Amino acid sequence: MVSQVKSITNILEQVENEWELSESDAMLLLSQKDETIINKIRQSADNLRQKQVGNTVTYIINRNINFTNICEQHCNFCAFRRDPEQDGAFWLSIEQIIEKATEAVKKGATEICMQGGLNPQAKLEGSSLKYYQQLIRTIKETFPQLHLHAFSPQEIQFIAREDKLTYIDVILGLKKAGLGSMPGTAAEVLDDTVRRIICPEKINSQTWLEIVSLAHRLGLYTTSTMLCGHIETAEQQIKHLSQIRNLQKTAINHNYPGKITEFILLPFVGKDAPKALKNRVQREQPSLQDTLLLTAVSRLFLGKWIGNHQPSWVKLGLNGAVEALKWGCNDLGGTLMEEHITTMAGATGGTCMDVKTLQQAIASLKRPYQERNTIYGISQS
Ligand code: SF4
Repeated sequence: MVSQVKSITNILEQVENEWELSESDAMLLLSQKDETIINKIRQSADNLRQKQVGNTVTYIINRNINFTNICEQHCNFCAFRRDPEQDGAFWLSIEQIIEKATEAVKKGATEICMQGGLNPQAKLEGSSLKYYQQLIRTIKETFPQLHLHAFSPQEIQFIAREDKLTYIDVILGLKKAGLGSMPGTAAEVLDDTVRRIICPEKINSQTWLEIVSLAHRLGLYTTSTMLCGHIETAEQQIKHLSQIRNLQKTAINHNYPGKITEFILLPFVGKDAPKALKNRVQREQPSLQDTLLLTAVSRLFLGKWIGNHQPSWVKLGLNGAVEALKWGCNDLGGTLMEEHITTMAGATGGTCMDVKTLQQAIASLKRPYQERNTIYGISQS
């Protein structure tokens, strides 16, 4: 025990001095159960956060628009998807999307985050790409100042498959229409044995990595995420972080015009998720304590490569997200204005947040707050 405390202290000192954390050391940190040691890990992640990005906690005024929940896939954690004729299926018209964007602009939004189900009927003149371009142009022509943060790597692959195009054609086609950046969602856990169980029809890990790297190469910023706390092991969590770190190294070392702006940990919410997965994990959500330790280890492991870390207030609740700001996070995310995907799975964190509430939550930690744009003030090429 004494020698383990010593070796953990050494590891933490090295990481704070910006040595790169190895996978085996990250595993050792993640396996700790002793409260005193866990608190040391938390303190180290907090120190590294302060050293890398300072004390200010950022947030963004944005709106989520899920344009349809009709989806051809059946992910085992998803309570959002519907078949076309099923109760509760929706597919927003262009007018409804503009109405939502107008409301968002009135409330000061600088970003629209748009994602949807994989709906093979969503085509314009027989082309999926044209339909997705129309979604972007509709918003950009009315509100050119809005940043469009939209379409996961899974949606990129879906459009490419439907239209028999390359990923490059799709990404460039969307960028030309006005796409500003892409969410790094649909990553779940980048391990195909896990993916075959939780999202068997989704793109595999390699395809996800390929599409995100292409987006960086073609000049788009992306976020990065991990859906944690279901069937995956600690080793699979660290392997996931390792692949995200390598992806960012590639973007930076090759001077790509895009890169990863932030890492967002998304703890599994299973209350109303399909039974197949819920029965398998035997719990509705991972414990807050496990999520916070993984939050701290993520900051330490991603190190200098990814400076911005965001907890999900939708999944953790606002109090949990504020707590995560002491475990290495520096951003409280967006106002969202409407959140469906996690809320339909049973999350109780809420579907929208007003700016005052986010500011007061940050101020409760005696840390300054600041509104940011989608790419954290990084100038876009
Ligand atoms: S997570 Fe996305 S791709 Fe999977 S079923 Fe739900 S809407 Fe479809």
